[in-house]
Amino acid sequence: MLEDLKNILNIQELDMKMIRLMRVKKERVKELQQIEDLRRELNSQISDKEKEIEDLGKSIQTLEQKIHDINMKIKKLEGQQSQIKKADEFNALTQEMTQAERERIAVEQKVSDLVDKRVAEEEMLTRIKESLKGSTENSLALEKEIADSVQLINDEGSSLEIERAKLTRSANPDVLQIYERLLRNKKDRVVVPIENRTCSGCHIVLTAQHENLVRKGTNLVFCEHCSRIHYWQETEALEGSAGATKRRRRRAAS
Ligand SMILES: [Zn+2]
Repeated sequence: MLEDLKNILNIQELDMKMIRLMRVKKERVKELQQIEDLRRELNSQISDKEKEIEDLGKSIQTLEQKIHDINMKIKKLEGQQSQIKKADEFNALTQEMTQAERERIAVEQKVSDLVDKRVAEEEMLTRIKESLKGSTENSLALEKEIADSVQLINDEGSSLEIERAKLTRSANPDVLQIYERLLRNKKDRVVVPIENRTCSGCHIVLTAQHENLVRKGTNLVFCEHCSRIHYWQETEALEGSAGATKRRRRRAAS
């Protein structure tokens, strides 16, 4: 059983490295996603603005056509007026022309407002385009750096997998299966030493009887509280395994 646990401890160290690696990768991929989101947002702002400007252009054109029609109408009224002799008919036409001129002034005002608006929108469009260009240039180096680091992470992940596959070949399949199930649940170390009669996974105090069972090391002993597998860190057979080495180093340092 001790030999089996030693093997699992080595696998566990690789799995911890892999979990850390995947966490870093997730962060980096998220950064990349944020850069892309910003760019997509700016691009959508640009196409919205372009559509607005196009619509303004169409409205201006329609109104300009209207001004043209009013001018034609006034010209026609002037023609009619020149042939009229009666004062009341003459006055009626004058009134109609005045009305048409008033309408033309109103439309011209509208056109002028729309032209101003279009100028403002075009300035805004230029600013958004500049901001897109700037952010694209700025993020280029960052994106390259992220892509490179993701590549490194993938490479390291692959070699961890190869190393792990080697270890699992000599692992006890039953113990490995139990270990992997626990790992899937906890995503943390699940084979842990007893320290001061305490589970170093959940930090709950254990009984002397439990500690003795773990010391004997004939069967797998699970923490009653968190279901982790316990091992006795002083055990000779675990010397040299990843868990024991780390533990010794920590003790030496303190
Ligand atoms: Zn526990």
